[in-house]
Amino acid sequence: MALIKCPECSAQVSEQASACPKCGYSFGAMAVKVADEEKDEIQGVVVTDINMTFSSMVSFMIKWALATIPAAIILAGIFFFLTGFFAWLMARM
Ligand SMILES: [Zn+2]
Repeated sequence: MALIKCPECSAQVSEQASACPKCGYSFGAMAVKVADEEKDEIQGVVVTDINMTFSSMVSFMIKWALATIPAAIILAGIFFFLTGFFAWLMARM
């Protein structure tokens, strides 16, 4: 249960209350408006996140590919080292 601020006396009031218990200010309609504005805000954030993901996706993938190259070189080095090591062991037997 969320609390809203009374515009008359700034008291914290339950959003389900139709009037402020302190000063009697009626804000039933305003509480609904605030809830709608909060909903719009959440949707705006979601849309912004999607836009950011799409605009930065290409650069992100390029960075990811560049970051993979050193890891691939290291893995290839380990693979060739182990292959050579076992080839050396086999040659000794
Ligand atoms: Zn009040």
